[in-house]
Amino acid sequence: MPTLTDKQIGEIVDRVAHQGDGMGWAMGNFDLEVDEIEDIMADANYERCPECGWFKECGELADAEGEPRSCTECDPTPIGGE
Ligand SMILES: [Zn+2]
Repeated sequence: MPTLTDKQIGEIVDRVAHQGDGMGWAMGNFDLEVDEIEDIMADANYERCPECGWFKECGELADAEGEPRSCTECDPTPIGGE
């Protein structure tokens, strides 16, 4: 894994979390593997929705009991509701 500055990590986290091309962009620009990007995202408190593959902030992918769930786009059931 290449050595990344905090600034670069911030750019990667922001782009991967918010733009559809972020994963490919980070792999191409920083010579990263998918699992390395997942580690970076986990360190930044993002986790990956098992259904759509988008990274979501930790806490979004757990229900009121802390059980893992899909993101609100994949599973619109309100967290802690019904
Ligand atoms: Zn999802």
